[in-house]
Amino acid sequence: MNLLPFGKLAAYRPRSFVPQNLDLGDWPQVAPLFDRLEAQAAQIKSVAGLEKWLLDWSELNAALDEEASRRYIAMTCHTDNADAEKAYLHFVEQVEPRLKPRQFALEQVYVAHPQTSHLPKARFEVFNRDVKNHVDIFRAENVALETAEAKLCQQYQKLVGAQTVTFRGEEKTLIQMGRHLEEPDHALRQEAWELIARRRLQDVDKCEEIFESLIQLRQQIAANAGFENYRDFMFRRMARFDYTPENCRQFHDAVEKEIMPAVREIQHERKRRLNLAQLRPWDLAVDPQNRAPLKPFAEIGEMVSRTQKIFDLLDAELAAGFRQLQDLKLLDLANRKGKAPGGYQSTLSEARVPFIFMNAIGLQRDVETILHEAGHAFHAQATREEDLYPYRSAPIEFCEVASMGMELLGNEFLEEFYPVAEANRARKTHLEGVIGFFPWMATVDAFQHWIYTHAGHTRAERKAAYLQLMDRFGGTVDWTGFEEARAHSWHRQLHIFLHPFYYVEYGIAQLGALQVWANSKANKAKALADYKSSLALGGSRPLPELFAAAGCTFQFDAATIKPLIQLANSELKKL
Ligand SMILES: [Zn+2]
Repeated sequence: MNLLPFGKLAAYRPRSFVPQNLDLGDWPQVAPLFDRLEAQAAQIKSVAGLEKWLLDWSELNAALDEEASRRYIAMTCHTDNADAEKAYLHFVEQVEPRLKPRQFALEQVYVAHPQTSHLPKARFEVFNRDVKNHVDIFRAENVALETAEAKLCQQYQKLVGAQTVTFRGEEKTLIQMGRHLEEPDHALRQEAWELIARRRLQDVDKCEEIFESLIQLRQQIAANAGFENYRDFMFRRMARFDYTPENCRQFHDAVEKEIMPAVREIQHERKRRLNLAQLRPWDLAVDPQNRAPLKPFAEIGEMVSRTQKIFDLLDAELAAGFRQLQDLKLLDLANRKGKAPGGYQSTLSEARVPFIFMNAIGLQRDVETILHEAGHAFHAQATREEDLYPYRSAPIEFCEVASMGMELLGNEFLEEFYPVAEANRARKTHLEGVIGFFPWMATVDAFQHWIYTHAGHTRAERKAAYLQLMDRFGGTVDWTGFEEARAHSWHRQLHIFLHPFYYVEYGIAQLGALQVWANSKANKAKALADYKSSLALGGSRPLPELFAAAGCTFQFDAATIKPLIQLANSELKKL
């Protein structure tokens, strides 16, 4: 039984290093290829030899990456298939842990190689910087600490995953309860919100304890690597060479100064439309005019053909890219039983083609998601010619410019899905969401900067620091009677527990996306040409150059944000 939606896909370049019939899921067959690369490196006496060696390593990595992706895709498309699950877990448990130390050994060999410094500077600048950084901050004694960290993260996931409430006589998960927050009946959505808040409060102490253990471990990890604090360690670990903690602090300030007035304005309008004296935390997800949800399409074929029409109107090359996804069956979009939740874009790295997974059910959110994931897919398609595997993907700060930018560009043609009034409603909700994301991003980011630069702080001090941020970025929402829920509202943000410091990327990328959109308002052809050529750079250049190629500045200060918010505001007024 073929568990993959797509048929046989040829490798973009024929293999020259990895044997054709090798089973990439069988470690005893894979390990000798790493032995070979290590042995060959010792023999290399020329720059050309080292470049060829890098391409062999790239070929192996692409083949392994595609194997992992295929198993992941099969598993998520068929969660009820035992073979798919077994194959996926086998790779995760038996291959990946053995892969990591072998990859690291090759990185060490590469950094120390006498020919490395003779490679063409501009071409290898980013690659060398990243590999050297990885080798520099690695500490063997941190491996055990990171395992302990992963276990604590799992405890947090278990704790939060087990949270349920009884609503109208039925046990519901908090995720299931989310839809009742969109309920037009005020009393009902308040009841739902209070149930969720009270349930979360029961686990406040447990969450705090897990988090405090995480802080301790993380401080130790940073100290072992020779860093004064975990924030500075993570900036290096995440290869943030092109911006500093100070840039992030300026970003937070700029959000407060330039974006909060627009947020308060949106909240004020919401309160007025809902005819409320105060905007309460349970009034934020409901449609402000109590309208029924938009229905963009009835079945998946319609969603795909209308999305295709949007790209036809936008750009011939991108339109051809989306058609390729259909022709090669690189889409699994409909929600059905036995499919994992959520949506993602994955790349088959050897065939060098993207794949999109979704659970569409006929909501406007699905239209946003297909545009978003198509942006990622265009990025993968744009880098097909690049033979150095790590350069076929960009840093997340720029990947999300490709996807979030495509949401904004595609939204210009929502009339493919709706009459004008409804298209405007969808655009308005989307733009308000874009604006409304920044304050929460600033809160989550600034809070973590505070936490990891205040060693030895008490629980009360942490709470006070968070409340200060809620005052700065919470807008006009009235939490009276729910002060404890407000003070611990960060407990639901899994990034703070699981992926420390990984959040500001979305804010940075959204600024890029807004700039791409602003450029397209001024000159659509040039904006699209820049967008496409920046995508084609993959990860071969540093972030400021990727942004510049897309026609954007890589800055997150008030001067950059101000005109973007002005544009968003003036567009909102038209809708
Ligand atoms: Zn994305």
